[in-house]
Amino acid sequence: NDENKRIDGKAVAETVVQKVKGETEKLVAQSGIVPGLAVIIVGEDPASQVYVASKGKKAKECGFHSIQHTLPADTSEADVLAHVQALNDDPAIHGILVQLPLPKHIDENKVIQTIAPQKDVDGFHYMNVGKLGTGDLSSAFVPCTPAGSMILLRSVLGDDLSGLNAVVVGRSNIVGKPMANLLLGANATVTIAHSRTKDLPDLVRSADIVVAAVGRAEMVKGDWIKPGATVIDVGINRIDAPERGEGKTRLTGDVDYEGALENAAHITPVPGGVGPMTIALLMANTLTSAYRHAELNPPA
Ligand code: NDP
Repeated sequence: NDENKRIDGKAVAETVVQKVKGETEKLVAQSGIVPGLAVIIVGEDPASQVYVASKGKKAKECGFHSIQHTLPADTSEADVLAHVQALNDDPAIHGILVQLPLPKHIDENKVIQTIAPQKDVDGFHYMNVGKLGTGDLSSAFVPCTPAGSMILLRSVLGDDLSGLNAVVVGRSNIVGKPMANLLLGANATVTIAHSRTKDLPDLVRSADIVVAAVGRAEMVKGDWIKPGATVIDVGINRIDAPERGEGKTRLTGDVDYEGALENAAHITPVPGGVGPMTIALLMANTLTSAYRHAELNPPA
């Protein structure tokens, strides 16, 4: 039954958000501390604006203090850094997120490394990257997309991935590399593929777990999927959809969903898979930060 193969990211994300909401109420009752999330957005990229709006909405739904700094596209790098610094120093803020990409004249890495590591809920600061790399997760922030992908994987495979081969396609700092580290931490045997990989189809055929994070619509074909494999499709690609009318578009993943369904035991859809988990994990990370700030043990 194909319906049973679909991993419902939207439903799992809703469970995470409800839990965050409950734990936020507890934290407020216990300590008076309200988790605070600040998002900085520079410029008018429409996709970024949609993401930022949905993050703010979800933060309010969780009972957070949520603020947004919307800066014009020609804001200087020094000004952006000053905003980050002010949020670092603001005791009401526990999570700081800078929406990427930033305009070309701003050094993205410089901005990210200016965020205080203990407020870096995206998990992109070297300190958090290093902690993930060395397996010190107790005080780290793990990037939201891979963290959410792991929850979806564990929802069907359980916590221990011993003996399973995982192939991560994509090696970005935001998705591919941290995903590979998390899979390794769960005892999978991990291979990271990228644009220079030879014989990608055969490599993917060896995988019990496939994570596609490339950004190329439906490049992973159904006959690359080993029978019984679990497929996590991180890709979000907007493609033309003439079948929906002239000029219409739709979202699709990096995996040919219908084709992969033939072989996979479990697969995430796009939309409704990893996407909602990313926002849910941002809320979870912000809550964790507020608990740490209150010197209380964060909920698991
Ligand atoms: P990047 O563009 O940073 O990385 C893409 C990776 O794919 C690179 O490592 C690149 O290899 C590799 N690649 C490109 N072409 C091929 C190919 N033909 N064969 C094998 N590997 C290839 O993307 P991100 O990691 O930031 O994002 C990946 C996708 O995930 C995008 O569609 C993005 O929109 C989506 N995304 C979704 C999120 C969500 O919430 N669901 C969050 C973040 C991203 P190389 O390094 O050699 O260039």
